[in-house]
Amino acid sequence: MKSNALVMEAPGELAHREIDVPEPGATDVLVDVELGGVCGSDVHMNGGGMDLEFPVLPGHEFAGFVEELGEDVAADSKGEPIGVGDPVTVVPGIVCGECWYCNNVPGRPTTCENRDVYGFLNVDYRQRLHGGFSEYVLADGRASIYRLPDGMDVELGALAEPLAVGARALERGFRPGMPDAREGFGIGKSVAVQGAGPIGLLTIAAANAAGAGQILAIDAIGERLELAERFGATDTVNFGDFDGEEELIRGVKELTSGGVGPDLVIEAAGVPAAVTQGIEFVRDGGTLVEVGHYAYNGETELNPTRLVQKDLNIYGSLAYPPNEFETALSLLDQLDGEVPFDELFNYRASLAEAEAAYEKQAAGEAYRATIHPGGV
Ligand SMILES: [Zn+2]
Ligand SMILES: [Zn+2]
Repeated sequence: MKSNALVMEAPGELAHREIDVPEPGATDVLVDVELGGVCGSDVHMNGGGMDLEFPVLPGHEFAGFVEELGEDVAADSKGEPIGVGDPVTVVPGIVCGECWYCNNVPGRPTTCENRDVYGFLNVDYRQRLHGGFSEYVLADGRASIYRLPDGMDVELGALAEPLAVGARALERGFRPGMPDAREGFGIGKSVAVQGAGPIGLLTIAAANAAGAGQILAIDAIGERLELAERFGATDTVNFGDFDGEEELIRGVKELTSGGVGPDLVIEAAGVPAAVTQGIEFVRDGGTLVEVGHYAYNGETELNPTRLVQKDLNIYGSLAYPPNEFETALSLLDQLDGEVPFDELFNYRASLAEAEAAYEKQAAGEAYRATIHPGGV
């Protein structure tokens, strides 16, 4: 059997190849891919912003149906029975289980010194199909696989990955977790999300489900802010409406209890200047979580004295532990019908039209352009 697959031969050079589908080993799962989302990091990779071993099989946000199971696979990573034909999604990050970090910091699998991520690997990696923009993906036994909740549209499975990123960023803000003493985020507290792209919107949905009292969405595009409201934002701030940074900071603070600023700020815009602004938005003693700069987007000036004066907690958030997919799928299931998740998929392409999907995503004209190897 062959699989049509998108291959990034080098940055800016997308090609199509027919690749032999390997026979699944005892712990492998062969997935018939329904769709894969084109992420900001895919665009970044295509633009030459990532130091990878090309040619690469891209695509790390995907979902599909089990085509074939290795003889030892009876359950998904949650322990739920799994069978041929079941809709699934695959956690792209895989850890080695052997390095110092795997042994000593097990709660932070992204610190693994040998972490591999499907969608970012050389075509020959372990002789497996591991890019989501392909008719088939062969997930190896070390990968976490999750069956989608009963009744869920398989397409929503492609949002498990970006939602896991957003939910993890929000949960970073929960620490140390005494919300009644306003330490860490909790029920009724305020959060501002900078950037109403897919990660920001999904973070807003997660914050709403987690009981946030106030959710401010901050962006410069009116249409995105309107969608943010439908994802659960209680207030929107269009920074284009403000005359300069000082006014913007005042405007954000004025919306919050006591006019002091939100308890938690999540930077999901990936714009360096947003970090500097976020430090000023958040109330004293509050928390800033940086999740937007997965890829290098430049630098910003930071005044260390402000961090001390404000007694701030600042956390970085890289991806998520694999079981954050369980959280993400649970959220998608709970909020399905209430939050218009499907509106994120506003540009659909077949595998043959993959280049156009990359272009739409790069131009900011799609929330999540999707590639459908089986056809649109
Ligand atoms: Zn992504
Ligand atoms: Zn490791």
